[in-house]
Amino acid sequence: MEKKLAGQIAIITGASSGIGAGVSKAMAMAGATVIVNHPVAATEAAAAAVLAEIREAGGTGITCQCDVSKEDEVKKMFADTISRFGTVDILVNNAGLQRDAPFQDMTLEQWNYLLSVNLTGQFLCAREAIREFLRRGIVPARSRAAGKIVCMSSVHEVIPWAGHANYAASKGGIMMMMKSIAQEFAPHRIRVNSIGPGAIKTPINHTAWDTPDAEAKLLELIPYGRVGIVEDIGAAAVWLASDDSDYVTGTTLFVDGGMTLYPGFSTNG
Ligand code: NAD
Repeated sequence: MEKKLAGQIAIITGASSGIGAGVSKAMAMAGATVIVNHPVAATEAAAAAVLAEIREAGGTGITCQCDVSKEDEVKKMFADTISRFGTVDILVNNAGLQRDAPFQDMTLEQWNYLLSVNLTGQFLCAREAIREFLRRGIVPARSRAAGKIVCMSSVHEVIPWAGHANYAASKGGIMMMMKSIAQEFAPHRIRVNSIGPGAIKTPINHTAWDTPDAEAKLLELIPYGRVGIVEDIGAAAVWLASDDSDYVTGTTLFVDGGMTLYPGFSTNG
């Protein structure tokens, strides 16, 4: 297999489970050295297990504990990575969570906490990445771009989601932050894009697919007729980080089996 990310350093946030773990494996198999980020001491073992799988498959990387909502920890993660590996080429802003509640019952803590991880966390990491990309500039042997950021958004950057106003607001915010940074730094050949996953089988949404009834109900929203897997997102992330997508910036790539095609309208007309 051609190593599209050979020699590049990739930080993947929230990588001890789910999509982040899948993206880490895919990027490592594409030749990147991966920084498998996780938030707290309790997630170290899971991150180490992801890294062990990567190493067993011939990839390289390290784990790195950092809560992406904390400015000092994010700065340290980037500084440590740069001092150890020389630079950073790719950031995958993946860490995210849900704090669901009917809107009238949603607490300020649920609102603030979710935004601090899902949106502020992406800002803090993107800012450090941009600083490093600007410092280093383009190194043709590494990539045609001076750096690549892939933001993990959601179909809920465009599909409203009752009972999840904080989550949908965070993903809508990610969309405009991504596009604004893409516009600001395209002249520096820094590319910034998002992935909008539909329903992907991970711990965040297991109640939506872990029984046959729940999965059948979920499939009503997915024209392509299957629930997504982390490998679907891993392949998209590798493409967005590689020179194969060198002319792509400021775009959300929906990887959703058609969920954003408004399937409720397919038999109404
Ligand atoms: P997940 O719960 O398995 O992964 C989320 C990860 O974020 C966890 O590993 C968690 O430890 C980490 N995390 C939480 N707070 C953090 C913090 N403060 N600092 C660093 N890491 C932190 O769920 P997932 O489905 O893999 O979610 C990954 C991303 O994909 C999220 O941004 C989510 O919104 C997005 N997404 C998922 C789906 C889906 O169907 N699974 C759909 C659309 C978008």
